[in-house]
Amino acid sequence: MAKFIFVTGGVTSSLGKGIIAASLAKLLQARGLKVTIQKFDPYINVDPGTLNPYEHGECYVTEDGAETDLDLGHYERFLNIYTSQANNVTTGRIYQTVINKERAGDFLGKTVQVVPHITDEIKRRMLLLGQDNQYDIVLTEIGGTVGDIESLPFIEAVRQLQWELPEEDLMVIHLTLIPYLKAAKELKTKPTQHSVKMLSETGVHPDILVCRTEEPLSNEIKRKIALFCNVKQEAVIEAMDASTIYEVPLEMLREKLDLICLKKMNITHYGEPNLDKWKGFLDKLKYPKSKVTIGLIGKYIELQDAYKSILESFVHAGAMNEVKVQVVNVHSEFITNENVAEKLQGFDGLLVAPGFGHRGIEGKIIAVKYAREHGLPFFGICLGMQMAVIEYGRNVLGLSEAHSVEMDPNTIHPVINMMEEQKKIKMMGGTMRLGAYPCEITPGTLAHRIYGETLISERHRHRYEFNNDYLDQYLAAGMVASGKNPETGLVEIIELPNHPFFIGVQYHPELKSTVERPAPVFVGFIDAAKKYNELKTSLKSAAPKDAVI
Ligand code: GLN
Repeated sequence: MAKFIFVTGGVTSSLGKGIIAASLAKLLQARGLKVTIQKFDPYINVDPGTLNPYEHGECYVTEDGAETDLDLGHYERFLNIYTSQANNVTTGRIYQTVINKERAGDFLGKTVQVVPHITDEIKRRMLLLGQDNQYDIVLTEIGGTVGDIESLPFIEAVRQLQWELPEEDLMVIHLTLIPYLKAAKELKTKPTQHSVKMLSETGVHPDILVCRTEEPLSNEIKRKIALFCNVKQEAVIEAMDASTIYEVPLEMLREKLDLICLKKMNITHYGEPNLDKWKGFLDKLKYPKSKVTIGLIGKYIELQDAYKSILESFVHAGAMNEVKVQVVNVHSEFITNENVAEKLQGFDGLLVAPGFGHRGIEGKIIAVKYAREHGLPFFGICLGMQMAVIEYGRNVLGLSEAHSVEMDPNTIHPVINMMEEQKKIKMMGGTMRLGAYPCEITPGTLAHRIYGETLISERHRHRYEFNNDYLDQYLAAGMVASGKNPETGLVEIIELPNHPFFIGVQYHPELKSTVERPAPVFVGFIDAAKKYNELKTSLKSAAPKDAVI
């Protein structure tokens, strides 16, 4: 059986529990231990699949087609391992299981209660990944902030486990905030004291405090925190704001977070951390040789978390290409034929983002047209690929009413159609085409050059697809369907060979990009953007001074 580390959060949300948990897991993995992470979310939705990105950021899809919290994306990007449905549990899922059991008669005669029935189910799920000797350590991030009513049953489950498991098999890390008061020029420990007190009142006592802070913690402050919060001084860990999240594992290594955990859990079989690849990536990230600017055309741009995996994929692909990738958000709702040139001409590449519904799609189509006509590297993901198909249909094939039935159910040219198996589906939760499916790539195409292989597997989240009734027309007009599902013929990749870089993918390559394995399409796209930028710069320097380029 594995050992368990629980990570709770105090004082405020958004302290980065996911990053701290992923960083610790990375260090333990780098020392040769088998590690996984799971997240327990306190909301009643069975999964975040039905949540608007404005509510909860991106929905992260795993290989097995689970719609999960975006922190699982961090876990995969840091650890280079796959997570699954079992790695993300919500209160909704817990209750659903317990209520289903109640209906089935499993508790006949009993009153079903939060303690023990709900907490039993929480504990069962908390321990699940630790069975079968698959992992040495299971980290569990508890969503929400200590003191929230809704996360109480999770904390209660941890309290019970503290007594049920051997002492050295379970530990608790509490992530907290030490605010710096500018006026007083002082770091303040009181919020942390209160937060630990609140946690202790529920019967859970933290072994380690990881303190988010803008200023370094002096020994004196650490001593004070240790004294008031009942932890050893060495277990008060400083977590300063980092320039990039990928710096955090090294910061935690300096603070010996991993060693303190290993000592507490009495684990002796570990080595020196092997972080060579990680450091190599960080070096490239921190010292880029040049810069490219990418326009991200989307509609959820006010919230950075809505496109989390895409933004991180750019970081990975940028480091791989040794360029800094600056991503500029462009709200698709406000792109018009009149302003498109002004809005997009400074970019070295355009990414048209995934999405749902009608809002902002005409702007996306105008942006695709601009990229196509100006030789600007273009990359469309899911809805972005579908918009590229519509744009080509309208402006090249002359099907002026080409559309997706998602936006216009009565269009006379449904070039993007609902998938057949989706037509009979009435329930919205977890019913899209989700998770990993194979894609066969045509040799000699851009996709083939990008992936270097002819059979790939990528993750999906969609209800609509390229309508193959129109395929011949598109092929005759110069578009290439370079990737298809080998069984169903569903078009997975489209490209334009007479363009420097124009690719649209029905799947979500951003979900498989990790520090050690950047997504090939992102790498190819950034390489194209780099070349575009170099060409632009050389044309500018070669041109007479008064020429307009
Ligand atoms: N709304 C489109 C579909 O369901 C695209 C989905 C997406 O971009 N993830 O097919």
